[in-house]
Amino acid sequence: MIKPSLGIHLPWFVKEVVVNDKEQRVDIYIDHEREIQVRCPECDRFYAMYDHGPERVYRHLDTCQMSTFIHVRPPRVNCPTHGVKQIDSEFGENGSDMTYAFESYVIRLAQECSIEAVKRLCGLSWERGWNALERAVTRGRSRKVHRIPSRIGVDEKSIAKGHRYESLVYDLDGGTVEYVCDDRGQESLESYYRQFSEEERAGVKAVAMDMWDPYIAATKAHIPGAEKKIVFESC
Ligand SMILES: [Zn+2]
Repeated sequence: MIKPSLGIHLPWFVKEVVVNDKEQRVDIYIDHEREIQVRCPECDRFYAMYDHGPERVYRHLDTCQMSTFIHVRPPRVNCPTHGVKQIDSEFGENGSDMTYAFESYVIRLAQECSIEAVKRLCGLSWERGWNALERAVTRGRSRKVHRIPSRIGVDEKSIAKGHRYESLVYDLDGGTVEYVCDDRGQESLESYYRQFSEEERAGVKAVAMDMWDPYIAATKAHIPGAEKKIVFESC
């Protein structure tokens, strides 16, 4: 029997696992205990569950190399103040069709290879890969204090077979994506640096990048002492 590793804990449990050998696909149905309290996402107060929203299907990490999907019916709360609300899902972001685990897998891959390769390996359209990156960055930002990492990695990704590029900024120590910009020009990296004061930018100790003139120019323009801080990665 396939035991999916979902990190599922009460009140959630796996109700049913359907393995389709022919389609090389696993569908996992998640349910919850009957009597649960649901938190209103607006005011954080708990109330008895009201009903369920429509079923959500999330792409999850493969099980034995089979595409795996998680089915959940998200509980809703009827808050006396805020009305009927769907709770924030712990499986995947509202509006996303991937679990958090699958999304971070896509992001780790994107740090190692082109978006084209991510798309091929994950069976995604590149728009979806791109959305996952953008969401991860947005989520990271909402959690993150305003801080420029002391060791930064800058990377260009080729999209749509080299017709388009994006710039990614990483925190080399935290391993997180800090910023995604839809171009690889000087302006795209400058837009990242400009979020920080000169004093904050002075705290940057190293910027690792490919030998790409626009990134070099942007870094020299915004990072004090950049000449000694830029580290070129071997391609
Ligand atoms: Zn409320």
